[in-house]
Amino acid sequence: MNDYEKLAERLFPDITMTPEQYEEKYPARPLPEGARVTRFAPSPTGFLHIGNLFTAYVNKLTAENTNGVFFLRIEDTDKKREVEDGVSGILAGLRAFDVEPDEGVLGFEFEQGEYGPYQQSNRCDIYQSFAKELVQKGLAYPCFCSEGALNDIRAEQELQAVNKGYYGDWAVCRKLTAEELLEAVETGKPYVLRLRSTGDENRRIIFEDMIKGKIEMPQDIMDVVLLKTDGIPPYHFAHAVDDHLMRTTHIIRSDEWIASVPLHIALFKACGFKVPKYAHVSPLMKEDVGGKRKLSKRKDPEAAVSFFVEQGFPKTSMLEYLLTLINSNFEDWRKGSPTAPQSAFPFNLKKMSASGALFDMVKLNDVSKNVISVMTAAEVYEQMVAWAKDYDAQLYTLFSGNPDYATAIMDIDRDNKNPRKDIAKWSEIREYVAYLYDELYTPCFDLPENILPGDAADILKTYKDVLNVEDDKDTWFGKIKDMCAGLGYTPNVKEFKQTPEKFKGHVGDISAVIRIALTSRRNTPDLHSIIRLLGVKKVHQRMEDAIQYYEAQ
Ligand code: GLU
Repeated sequence: MNDYEKLAERLFPDITMTPEQYEEKYPARPLPEGARVTRFAPSPTGFLHIGNLFTAYVNKLTAENTNGVFFLRIEDTDKKREVEDGVSGILAGLRAFDVEPDEGVLGFEFEQGEYGPYQQSNRCDIYQSFAKELVQKGLAYPCFCSEGALNDIRAEQELQAVNKGYYGDWAVCRKLTAEELLEAVETGKPYVLRLRSTGDENRRIIFEDMIKGKIEMPQDIMDVVLLKTDGIPPYHFAHAVDDHLMRTTHIIRSDEWIASVPLHIALFKACGFKVPKYAHVSPLMKEDVGGKRKLSKRKDPEAAVSFFVEQGFPKTSMLEYLLTLINSNFEDWRKGSPTAPQSAFPFNLKKMSASGALFDMVKLNDVSKNVISVMTAAEVYEQMVAWAKDYDAQLYTLFSGNPDYATAIMDIDRDNKNPRKDIAKWSEIREYVAYLYDELYTPCFDLPENILPGDAADILKTYKDVLNVEDDKDTWFGKIKDMCAGLGYTPNVKEFKQTPEKFKGHVGDISAVIRIALTSRRNTPDLHSIIRLLGVKKVHQRMEDAIQYYEAQ
């Protein structure tokens, strides 16, 4: 046993599994040629940022399109950032929009897959096994510098205006021999384990980022901490060991990590791992006074995925919109394939924009209106009830109490060639259906300026006499037209436009009065369908109320 091996044994007496054994335990994945293995690796903070959902979706698409695997790993070695059960909230956000992992952490204290454990705090033995081997090879060493000593080094570096950190000649413990290190360990001094960097600041690393293109940076020369005093690794070393053993082929993550790539490559190389492919995703931006800025958790409610769940954006809408941000050719593809499933889109990681995409709520709303407009009434019913169950108890009771009625409401105008596009999210439904439920309805009989209350009362009185809720649409509208002449209106809009002085108004004004009396709205879906849904009793009652109101004016 040489001195480094003795040191390694002294530092890790309980670590008996070797890296070689772990290599065997986690063999290459039995996947088809070209299959990509990707992952989403959040800290369990309980919060899922929309940018994280976006990146996770890119990971999922990459795996899915190549028959690969997308897994979820929880990076919890930094206990400060953790909250109790910070996993469920993140998983709920992913699931809400169908960005479900195939493997890894799939619930609170629940995971699935052959490459686990998938929670870093349960992998300390594995990290220590690889750390032990680095010590054996002289590539890592214990460092006994106290907080105070490190501060002194930093102060001196500041004075000399050189790069700060523990490296090269500044790295005091790096210079100790294995024997001296062993002696220091024997004294019981606390230590961290550091990488003995082989980087040269005058040499550069070049790597091909699949989104950003070719990137060149100086090599990393820091003797970074591999294991803290408690034997737990900070993120960087854990990432290298995990992504190697979990057989990740493509690391797709936020571009805040680009600056760490030289270090990550150094770690992969020190451990003898193949360097995976990298793709760094730019942050989602928001238009603000003075230009674009990153979507901020602190300032923007829409930075939280939970916001979109609470608002009730359908999964398909969110994914459809995210796809427009992911690949700019998606919208053209969609025009050519309006009914194709999203999974048929030929997603291409390399076509992602290298600069941050603008997250535009107005556009999301438009996309969502389109998506909802082509759903069947049954689909709409199912989704809006599921949303109401969690977020609007009264609506849920009303809908689930009479599913046929609710479905019929959502079916109005749905078979049109140009279906209505007035709902973007389920939280808008309450307002949309309000006049069809007495429990939600507050009448408001305000008229447009061109119609006088007395005329409105006359129109309603006449209509009450001819109304039959069983009438088909043509008969129904025929009756309204027939009412015109007797009331001083014309059934012919063109005629009214040519000689307005001859009439009080046209058939559209008559319909408007009826619509307002029955719905308190000036714009609704097909009025004939609404009358049939309201039924004879409610229609008569509402007309009575409106007549009384106008007569009292
Ligand atoms: N745990 C890191 C984060 O939350 C993940 C970095 C990575 O994906 O490599 O940002």
